Order: sequence, then C-alpha cells, then structure tokens
Amino acid sequence: MKPLRIVLIKPSKYGVDGSVERFKKGFMPNATLYHIASLTPASIGDTPIQVRTVDEYVWQDLGYLQLLHHDPEVVTLVALVGVQSHQFHRALDLAAYARHHGVRHCVIGGPHAMTCDTASLQGRGVSFALAEAELIWRQILEDALSGELQPVYGAHQRWAQDLPGVVVTPPGPADLARYRVPMLGLYPVRGCPYRCNFCSVIKISGRQVRSPALESTLASLRLAKAKGVEQIMFVSDNFNKFPQVRELLQAMIEARVGLPFLCQCDTQIAREPDLVDLLGRAGCFEMFVGVESFNTKTLKSAGKNHNDPRRYADIIRLCGDAGIRPHFSNIIGFPGDDEAEVQNHLEVLKTLRPKVASFYVLTPIPGTEQYDSFSKAGLITEPNLDRFDATCATWTHPVFSKQRLTDLLYQCYTRYYAFLLRYARGSEEEQRVAIFCRYMALQKMHPMAGGIDPVPVDSRADYSHLRRECYGIGLAPLPRSLRLSSSDEALNRRARWHIKELKEDAAT
Ligand code: SF4
Repeated sequence: MKPLRIVLIKPSKYGVDGSVERFKKGFMPNATLYHIASLTPASIGDTPIQVRTVDEYVWQDLGYLQLLHHDPEVVTLVALVGVQSHQFHRALDLAAYARHHGVRHCVIGGPHAMTCDTASLQGRGVSFALAEAELIWRQILEDALSGELQPVYGAHQRWAQDLPGVVVTPPGPADLARYRVPMLGLYPVRGCPYRCNFCSVIKISGRQVRSPALESTLASLRLAKAKGVEQIMFVSDNFNKFPQVRELLQAMIEARVGLPFLCQCDTQIAREPDLVDLLGRAGCFEMFVGVESFNTKTLKSAGKNHNDPRRYADIIRLCGDAGIRPHFSNIIGFPGDDEAEVQNHLEVLKTLRPKVASFYVLTPIPGTEQYDSFSKAGLITEPNLDRFDATCATWTHPVFSKQRLTDLLYQCYTRYYAFLLRYARGSEEEQRVAIFCRYMALQKMHPMAGGIDPVPVDSRADYSHLRRECYGIGLAPLPRSLRLSSSDEALNRRARWHIKELKEDAAT
C-alpha cells in the first residue's frame, strides 16, 4: 500500500491589491494546523501516514506548491484547515491548483465551511468538512486511502460532545523560525456561553464549554518546552470560562512549566481578582479582552450584555497588579456609532491606557446572527468574501461611508499609539509594539494582520483561471448561513455553566 501523504495548509488571503498576504516573520503559528497534525495517526492498518504542514502566511517562496502535485509514490490528501470566510477564495484556489495538478483528494474545513452553505461549490471534486475534525478526520483519511472522498463530511453534527485529549506536537525548528518568537497555540477549552450577535465563535465552537482532559494540555506544554517553544497562546475564547482554569494554572505553577503565555478572557474577569493573580503567577504576560465599545446601549444591542464599561478600569488595574499586559480589542462602526461616538471611544480608551489596543471594523461575518439580519435587511454591499476580514466596511452604515470607516480605523491606531508613546511609554517591548502598530496604520496596513514585513510573491491573478476551471466562478457567492442540526442545538442548550452569572448580567 502506498503511504498516505497529508498536506495540511492554513491558507492565507488575498489583500486589497490581489496579492497573497505573506510575511517575513509571523506572530504565531496557526493552532488548528498543529492540532490536526497531532490528531492524525501515524498509520492506518499497515499504511504509514506522513504529514506536512504549511502556514501560508509565513511561506515566502512557493516551494510548497510542489506538494500539491500528483506524486505516484504516495496517496496525497490536501486539507485546507481553519479556513475563515476571508480565506475561503484562497482555499478554493489551492484546492483547484491541486486538482489541476492531479491530486484527487482535497478537502476544505474550518469556520466558513462549518457555518456557511457551500452547496453550489460541492460535487466539483473538492470536499467540504462541516464539523470539528474530532468527528470526521479519521473518516476522511480512510476514504482517501480507499480511493474516494465524499463531497461533504459532518453535515449532521457540527460539534463533538466530548473532546479527546490531544498532545500537540509543535512545529519543528525550521518552521518555528518563521515566527517572531517561537510560539505554539493550544486549545485547552472550546465554546462560549454568551450570545453576541456579531460573534462567529459560538457558531464555530458552540455555547457549551467543552474541554479535553487537563493532562493533555499539560503534556502539550511540557512537549512544547522540550522542543524549543518559548511562548504559548491559549487560543480558546474566554479562558476564564474554563471550569478547570484554576486547576490548570496551579498545575503549571507546580510543574514549573516556565512558558510565558497569552490568553483571552471576557470582561467578567473584572470580577475575578484571584484568577488574574493566578494567571500572572502562572506566566500570563498578555490578556486579550473584547471590550468592543464603551457605550452600554451599543453593547446591549450587540447582545454583549455582560460587558460593563464601568468595570473596564478594574481589568487594567488587576492586570497591572499581576504583571499582565492588558490588550483591549475595540470595534468601530456599530450601527449606532457616529463621528462623536468614535472620538469619545478613543478619549475614554486614553484614560484607561491599556498597554495594547486593537481596532476592528464591525463586520457581519458569514454564518453569524448579525450577518443574517444585515442580509435580510439588504445592508450587505461587499460581494467579495476576501474583504470580510474586519478591516473595511462591507455593509451600508447609516452614517459612515466606506472610506470614512477605513480612515477612522487607521486613525484610531495612529492616535492611540501616538498617545501611548508620548504619555505612557512602558517597557521596551511595549514601545516596540506601539511603534509597530503606529507605523503599520500609517501605511494603511492592519497591525494585527498576522506578521511583520509583508512579502509580495503571488497574487489572485495567478490562480483565477483555476477557480473558473474548477468551480465555474469568479467570486464565490455570498453564502446563506447554515442552520444547526438538532444534536448541535441540544448541545447548545446544555450551556448551563455560568448560567447564574449570565442571568445576573441580563438583570443589570
Ligand atoms: S463573549 Fe466573545 S466569544 Fe463569547 S459570544 Fe461574545 S464575542 Fe463571542
């Protein structure tokens, strides 16, 4: 039996000028890539399995495209993983490229395929994965070995009820060197009990908080340390909603893991000073918090009732006490925003002075509740999925023109970081971050795009004939959101964790 060669690719995206976004150094390796690689068995029966991983954002040459050519010595499976809507065209094009070069087995998975209707693109030789890898990956591998992939996997169940423990093998030294700091992303927990209407996380991972056994996360951390990883990103949204978070952090302290880490918490962390303290002692150096807005009415209309702007200052204080850099994430262009509102937001932010602030344009991400309601109201004007990356306007805002929103986005960056550099310079690293964010924004490039020093190599034009040949389209149609199956609805109904807290939030 020929070996099975799996080429796992995290596709990049096409920038406004059509070039594939690539960087000389990335910020962090894609977590899904290494999670799925580690989920893959070494063999099935007597057939050995080889896995190659490619994070396109940090590949500066096209050598990996050779892996997408038919090789008579192996059975090749090309899997485009973690594909978000703004990366969907790129994923389609890479799959079309592989098909064109004789690869028979290609599959596209991740947020877009899981939450959006891809029916018009199915049955053309590229398969779509509509569920978490834990539910379908083994079947995909077996089908590739037996000669034929199914057009669709996981249509009846999006989420695994239980998550198996996976010990993640980090990228090898050559791949780690592609990033500014050797880093690994881990998912100790998935799901979020809240219901923000713009959020894709609850559509991708559900509202029930699920986690594998703690030991697998600890084993991943130990392995990462042994393999030269220097920092960890806990990619899970709302780390503080992980029921075993304290146990994990305590175990990390006791085991002297010694790996500094970043994590994401919701704003309820303001009520958990002991947890912030524990995070700091376990090595957390940056906490990403989705504050989004300082306007309570705006937050309520976005379904983010649990954000209380009066408590944002507590987060800054608690993080400061624990030696953690607070990173506030902000959204501009909510339906109720106008010029005065955005200027006021910036002024309030300056009084709080989080060490890091990121800004995004409100984007109705396909698959979300907001996308559905904006679509129904005929508000979505952008036909190209590449642009649904939270850096530009995609819908008709009642006040702002498309250009004005883009200008405001970059102005928020330049003005906030100019302020920090002038009045709150911070550590050398914080100054570097501030200078970088300001510089990127002045160039009209989003500082959080994924890396430093963009490298133009190839562009959409190099692949557009393949997209036409394989799928008969120029642009993929804006999709309809997929409905949840009854089993996924049932899992969402089990989202009882912190239900008391959720009720309290609604009441206040
Ligand atoms: S709190 Fe964050 S992850 Fe949870 S639903 Fe809201 S935006 Fe999504």
